[in-house]
Amino acid sequence: MAPSYFLIFGPPGAGKGTQATALAALLEVPHVSTGDMFRAHLKQGTPLGLEVQALLAAGTLVPDDVTNRMVEERLKEDDAAVGALLDGFPRNVPQSKFLDALLARDGQSLTGIVVLDVDEDELRRRLAKRAADQGRPDDADPAVIEDRITTYREQSEPCLGYYEGIGVPIHRIDGIGAPADVEARIAAAIGS
Ligand code: AMP
Repeated sequence: MAPSYFLIFGPPGAGKGTQATALAALLEVPHVSTGDMFRAHLKQGTPLGLEVQALLAAGTLVPDDVTNRMVEERLKEDDAAVGALLDGFPRNVPQSKFLDALLARDGQSLTGIVVLDVDEDELRRRLAKRAADQGRPDDADPAVIEDRITTYREQSEPCLGYYEGIGVPIHRIDGIGAPADVEARIAAAIGS
């Protein structure tokens, strides 16, 4: 079977991580989360972890060359021969173009994009709750939360216009409600 590459897309706090676990299982591809990968490097104290520590704490994007290289290496791993569900990547149009070129080298392209729509007030509520539940430092500071939401709006959202322009199917899902309900909407939208 040809590999399939999907993106799960949406602002911080939209529920990408939660939904990505279920969607990756449904699609039978690995869940590749750049945020999780950076946090794992941080926890293990690798050189990359040290390099990105301050950026993650401030909610600032890691430079594209560093992020792109990490994704390129991850997609070369054996389990990603079937494709991947990318979560948190791409985060800007240059990263989108990098990914397209990377897939095109193997004659591949994105199969589709699932976008989780959640209004900004609800995002703020969810991120504050996640700070209390999971202790993520980038969720704890309201100023950092605002910066991450702004970064999404200014840098990440334009990726959708880019993909629309090149004809990648985009499935917009209402991300409000119980996780199981959102999961069912996603499954219905992608026809699985
Ligand atoms: P996330 O868990 O996706 O919210 O990512 C947490 C943090 O990791 C972000 O605030 C960025 O500092 C960094 N990060 C994750 N993905 C990317 C990306 N595609 N490009 C740049 N930085 C990223």
